[in-house]
Amino acid sequence: MPDMPDMTDMPDKPDKPDMPSASLICRVCGYRLGERTESRCPECGSEFDRGDPTSFRVVLAHPAKLGEYDAEVTALSIQQELLDAGILSSLEASTRGVTGVLSRQIYRVFVDAADLEASAIVLSQVSERADRANWRCQGCGEEVPGGFDLCWNCGRVDESATGR
Ligand SMILES: [Zn+2]
Ligand SMILES: [Zn+2]
Repeated sequence: MPDMPDMTDMPDKPDKPDMPSASLICRVCGYRLGERTESRCPECGSEFDRGDPTSFRVVLAHPAKLGEYDAEVTALSIQQELLDAGILSSLEASTRGVTGVLSRQIYRVFVDAADLEASAIVLSQVSERADRANWRCQGCGEEVPGGFDLCWNCGRVDESATGR
């Protein structure tokens, strides 16, 4: 009877590919921006800001839905909170319900599956802060939910929240 092949000698297959789980791409031309430090797309010259999630797009290797929001500003604020925590996310808008008066937009935030756990922690921190009362921005007068330290309208920091 021949010996069975030794299965323990199989080459190790890496679990993760070398590619990052989430990559920045140019909002205008789709160029993969990678870890560039300059704030301009080398392909088309469009400017972007690594600190502003609306200035670029993100492709996720393994998209996982983090949450669903009725208001775009809420989804954008979530994206900003995630980015501040170093997590890239993507936003998808779609229409729910039948076409016509009953339909409305919903906004889904996706993160990479590898970032899902860390993202959930960020969200729970946001909702803890949401116990705080809404505040009115001194810069533009917009009312901002207590969960956010930044005015989503003008980006101003809530002065009463600093030093916490
Ligand atoms: Zn570009
Ligand atoms: Zn403001």
